[in-house]
Amino acid sequence: MTDTTVTNWAGNITYTAEELHRPHTLDAVRSLVAGSARVRVLGSGHSFNEIAEPGAGGVLLSLADLPSVVDVDTAARTVRVGGGVRYAELARVVHAHGLALPNMASLPHISVAGSVATGTHGSGVTNGSLASAVRAVELVTADGTTVTVARGDERFGGAVTALGALGVVTSLTLDLEPAYEVEQHVFTELPSAGLDAEALEAVLSAAYSVSLFTDWRDPGFRQVWLKRRADQPLSAFPWAVPAKVKMHPVPGMPAENCTEQFGVPGPWHERLPHFRAEFTPSSGAELQSEYLMPREHALAALRALEGIREVLAPVTQTCEWRTVAADAQWLSPAYGRDTVAAHFTWVADTAAVLPVVRLLEEALEGFAARPHWGKVFTASPAALRALYPRLGDFRALVGELDPEGKFTNAFVRDVLAG
Ligand SMILES: Cc1cc2nc3c(=O)[nH]c(=O)nc-3n(C[C@H](O)[C@H](O)[C@H](O)COP(=O)(O)OP(=O)(O)OC[C@H]3O[C@@H](n4cnc5c(N)ncnc54)[C@H](O)[C@@H]3O)c2cc1C
Repeated sequence: MTDTTVTNWAGNITYTAEELHRPHTLDAVRSLVAGSARVRVLGSGHSFNEIAEPGAGGVLLSLADLPSVVDVDTAARTVRVGGGVRYAELARVVHAHGLALPNMASLPHISVAGSVATGTHGSGVTNGSLASAVRAVELVTADGTTVTVARGDERFGGAVTALGALGVVTSLTLDLEPAYEVEQHVFTELPSAGLDAEALEAVLSAAYSVSLFTDWRDPGFRQVWLKRRADQPLSAFPWAVPAKVKMHPVPGMPAENCTEQFGVPGPWHERLPHFRAEFTPSSGAELQSEYLMPREHALAALRALEGIREVLAPVTQTCEWRTVAADAQWLSPAYGRDTVAAHFTWVADTAAVLPVVRLLEEALEGFAARPHWGKVFTASPAALRALYPRLGDFRALVGELDPEGKFTNAFVRDVLAG
């Protein structure tokens, strides 16, 4: 089955591949890979750059038509999930077994394999990126054979957040924990003027998952979203005012698209994402960028961006501040450091957004800001090299598993060139 024009979710990237291959069996995946010179997998297409682009003549592959695999092992508290499965489906099945994932991103629409490949994360000072729940990855490598890399294998640090550069991820095994309930409390108007580093840290740590939103039109944060686990103590939140109406983080968008608020307890997978699976997430017409920095820079980075607020505001729909605990994936933007993440939902206008992205990157110089692999950025290969101390190990792993570079596209080549 083929599609003629394939774009990403945002519509800002049209892939050059002439067709999107959607094999129905694992054997068909193996033959397609073995018989093709260049291959990239398209997950759910929620990245905003050319990370999935196979290049002229290359094959673009979707695993969405493979039989869906979500095998829960309740005794071991793990789940094996197929390479095309999205978080919404995974979460429903896991929850039905009385189990839970430790965290989710802002939306459940994204594929698990594509998310962990780019270091996708939710929020929480004790929550690692989504890749940190992965305990094993199965890959169809260049010759069509399967390789499994599990925790404990010295290659594991490069195997999960791997930008699709090692092979086709056909399944992942994830850690689970007992199901829990979450309450979502939304506050408005958090002034930033009086915040010192200690207060900002207290705000960011005030619940299991915390998100602060600003549109840069005024100083301070317009909204604060706290996701409190019902099995953890409730701390007071004196810094802002409880919202009186249900909110959407993008001004003007309908709040019904968002998960339940006002502290109504509910299952983890219906509160940890901001957006409900059955609605369009975010604004739907947008670009995104995100920069992940050591958390000790949080206040200085906030002040630096407040300094260019007037440049940011005209192209910003919303900007979200979150935290991510350090993880051990070599290419994870949270590798080796507890992190604060500044995310930007821009207007859907590449020409207007790109110059602002460059200015933003200049403003964040000195904060060792690692760009999100799935979003818009302009950092050079040399800049990336300085940010990723294990890049050489990753390059060696690509050389071992994919010596001919079948899965290396222009995006990956730039990263490896660093
Ligand atoms: C509305 C919206 C909200 C978002 N919210 C968040 C958020 O809260 N936190 C966050 O960190 N990010 C967020 N993102 C970014 C998003 O999570 C990432 O771009 C993520 O990679 C999307 O997963 P995907 O399956 O759509 O990946 P794709 O864009 O399809 O692919 C990403 C990469 O993964 C590779 N890949 C995908 N599947 C496989 C496979 N089976 N085998 C090998 N390689 C594979 C692709 O080749 C590509 O290199 C958001 C994006 C959108 C559009």
